[in-house]
Amino acid sequence: MTVPVLVIGGGLSGIAAAIRIARFSLNVQILEQHSRLGGLNSYFYRNKVLYETGLHAITNYAETGDKQAPLNRLLRQLKLKRKELSLCQQYKSKIDFHGHESLFFSNQPELFDAEIQAKFPHIHDKFIQLKKFIDLFDPFTLSPFRSAKQYLSELFGDPLFVDMLMCPLMFYGSSYENDMDLNQFAIMFRAIYMEGMFRPKGTIKDFLDTLISHYEAMGGITRTNCRVKKIIHSGNRVTGVELASGEIIECSYLLSTIGSDETRALMNPPGQITPPADKRLGFIETIYELQEASTSTLPEDTTIIFYNTTKTFQYRSPSDYLDPSSGVICFPGSFSGLPPKKNREIRSTHLADFSRWKKLSADPAAYLEKKRQAAVESRNVLETIVGNFTKDIVFENTFTPVTIERYTSKHKGAIYGNPVKIKDGNIGYHNLFIAGTDQGFLGIVGSMLSGVSIVNQQILPKI
Ligand SMILES: Cc1cc2nc3c(=O)[nH]c(=O)nc-3n(C[C@H](O)[C@H](O)[C@H](O)COP(=O)(O)OP(=O)(O)OC[C@H]3O[C@@H](n4cnc5c(N)ncnc54)[C@H](O)[C@@H]3O)c2cc1C
Repeated sequence: MTVPVLVIGGGLSGIAAAIRIARFSLNVQILEQHSRLGGLNSYFYRNKVLYETGLHAITNYAETGDKQAPLNRLLRQLKLKRKELSLCQQYKSKIDFHGHESLFFSNQPELFDAEIQAKFPHIHDKFIQLKKFIDLFDPFTLSPFRSAKQYLSELFGDPLFVDMLMCPLMFYGSSYENDMDLNQFAIMFRAIYMEGMFRPKGTIKDFLDTLISHYEAMGGITRTNCRVKKIIHSGNRVTGVELASGEIIECSYLLSTIGSDETRALMNPPGQITPPADKRLGFIETIYELQEASTSTLPEDTTIIFYNTTKTFQYRSPSDYLDPSSGVICFPGSFSGLPPKKNREIRSTHLADFSRWKKLSADPAAYLEKKRQAAVESRNVLETIVGNFTKDIVFENTFTPVTIERYTSKHKGAIYGNPVKIKDGNIGYHNLFIAGTDQGFLGIVGSMLSGVSIVNQQILPKI
């Protein structure tokens, strides 16, 4: 039997793409190597407690009536009801440089504007100019890379302000070192500073369960524990896939969400990864759970802190296991309307060097010990920003780029994938397209929009 559309990868881009296809009563199957869906945004259990792997906050918040907003467009395309997700908005977030330069922002863009007017009055008119530019700018063109850093440096002439402005956008969506494509900058600027951040009231498991039951109710099929070992093709026409079990499934169209190079590696002969595509950014993340009667004096009304402690902000692969001099501190319980949880959680994210962690992982005891030390190094910096909390930790879990590689098969465990993006999803085959991280839209809403838009552009018109 030939399946009309196969989707490799059951992360958020694969799930969204498959729902979009199933909406047209087309037979579609998701093939996921793991026992559960979600990819980078999934969950795990320790001592019967559920922990989310990836969720800090979802970008692109929108009010119900704003029909053109990306979030509402996405929900319409997937025929999902907003109320099924129960959106809880962030309180406010902070950009903290050197412990004394700060800018707050929230889902009300006026706050960011007022902060800039008060703290950087000399460039406030330029900031208004930037907002007008972004309003009129179409970031969805297939244009080559343009440096956002250069554009902003010329506009503002203030390196500190440019670094502060770019820091959250880089941490939440740049696969480039020390820069961003201007298109990606504009997408992330709108997503974070103009629209804002939220999370669903339930856990990521509830969110995934809602998506999957919606998909399966439309007739979509999900196959877990199903690793694609090879893509079968004759020249540049794909005829099907071979699974690790040896089973062959024929298809008319194949959508791969596992990454561009990761997809090419499944072809015959396998594609090789060459510079600049092998330059990937790794991250290390630690989850700290604090005891119920915590005595810590952590901020109560801040959702996320994007910080830097060095003279010049460096967003690049570090020359050590991790670089705690900058990073993200997230309080996943600090969203308006979330039901109170027994224990408070803090998450930290820093840039990390994949190659060092990979080498060390050959010695499991040394690798574990280094993870423990990395969490201490991270905490030492975090506590200078949010106050002491070490004494209240009841559970701690650190994952490195090697963990991410192990669970998602992403090359070098790079969350934001290949720095070279393929915006039309076309990697040179008639009926094979890529969506997700390497197509160019990043984050949860971005990856879901990517799945939907590649289906709309490349598959539905032809089927
Ligand atoms: C620690 C962390 C924190 C994050 N925080 C946020 C956040 O707060 N907000 C936000 O918006 N985004 C966040 N992200 C990013 C977000 O999770 C991703 O951008 C998004 O989930 C990517 O989805 P995807 O479908 O493109 O890729 P993936 O999630 O990587 O999905 C690809 C899937 O393909 C499967 N696969 C790979 N190879 C094969 C194969 N050969 N056969 C079958 N299946 C295969 C993988 O197992 C995986 O399930 C975070 C990510 C991480 C890791």
